Amino acid sequence: METWQQSLHDGLTDPAELARRFGLDPAPLAAVVRRYPMRITPHYLQLIEAPGDPIWRQCVADPAELAVDELTDDPLAEENLSPVPTVIHRYPDRAVLLTGNDCAVYCRFCTRKRRVGCRSGALSFDAVLAGIDYLARTPAVRDVLLSGGDPLLLSDAQLQEILERVRRLPQVEIIRIGTRLPVTLPERITDPLVTMLRRFHPLFVNTHFNHPRELTPAAAEACRRLADAGIVLGNQTVLLRGVNDTPEVMAPLLTGLLRLRVRPYYLHQMDLVRGTGHFRTRVEEGMALVQALRGKVSGLAIPHYVIDLPGGKGKVPIQPEYLQRLGDTVTLRTAAGELVDYPNLAADIYTDKCR
Ligand SMILES: *Cc1c(COP(=O)(O)O)cnc(C)c1O
Ligand code: SF4
Repeated sequence: METWQQSLHDGLTDPAELARRFGLDPAPLAAVVRRYPMRITPHYLQLIEAPGDPIWRQCVADPAELAVDELTDDPLAEENLSPVPTVIHRYPDRAVLLTGNDCAVYCRFCTRKRRVGCRSGALSFDAVLAGIDYLARTPAVRDVLLSGGDPLLLSDAQLQEILERVRRLPQVEIIRIGTRLPVTLPERITDPLVTMLRRFHPLFVNTHFNHPRELTPAAAEACRRLADAGIVLGNQTVLLRGVNDTPEVMAPLLTGLLRLRVRPYYLHQMDLVRGTGHFRTRVEEGMALVQALRGKVSGLAIPHYVIDLPGGKGKVPIQPEYLQRLGDTVTLRTAAGELVDYPNLAADIYTDKCR
């Protein structure tokens, strides 16, 4: 049987090979890949139906990545919020622990494009342990998010060692793992992995589906294994121009996730990262998209639409404007667009009326 390590090794990294398969000129792709590496797993590659389609756009290098823009490599100032290289500590009670820089597929829109897949940005296991030492002396952190890179690309043994050390910290209540492998390398979600993970509850896994075509039988099986192990599954989607920026694509993605027992958590406005401008949508478009979903799909399917503010100021939720006026009467706009008055009555518990 082919192992997940073999599938990863078989990933397509060479622009010439991609160009040959699809009958394209390799030269423009090669220039991009020298700056931002490319890797596409066999599973993800077979989801491409035609050049330029929503799967292609997410994984194939694009000359637009080299466009000169005003944007920076690290708009979220993650590096400034790093007390040690493997920790991002922005909110008092929760911290991100970076376990590596490698991913199965290098998403072209990645916020950490500056380091993901780059050998120069490699993080050693000792650096991860130094991150855990930081967490040990930071008692306010109740919630640790393993991220990267993709934490599930570590070996079972390494991941287990990290989880054991984090679980041993008395202040840590929950552990979250952010991973795209159910989408890009679903064969990684093996029974031994899941048997190991379930020892570390309460454990949350946030995955990253962006398009309904990613909801394959193999991805469904990966999610089933995780959910059957009692792991709470969430999903973070990035709102991407030409990939999922219409209700026709987003609604089946979100309802399809619920069928896999995955709760949509965040819909991310694209971060202002250099080399990703061709994916960006305007905020009004994101608001209109969320509004189009409300009332049409189950409330469980609707994620929080968030902007992660530049400079490390954090995530801010964006809502369509339902609230029109506050006062003794509140005016609300329904999902269908109707304006409705609502009496703003609160209990008068301190009056003598009832005596
Ligand atoms: C998103 C994020 C978190 C987690 O935020 P939640 O809103 O609790 O999911 C924590 N730290 C950093 C740096 C983040 O970007
Ligand atoms: S899986 Fe996540 S961290 Fe890895 S390249 Fe994609 S967006 Fe970036």
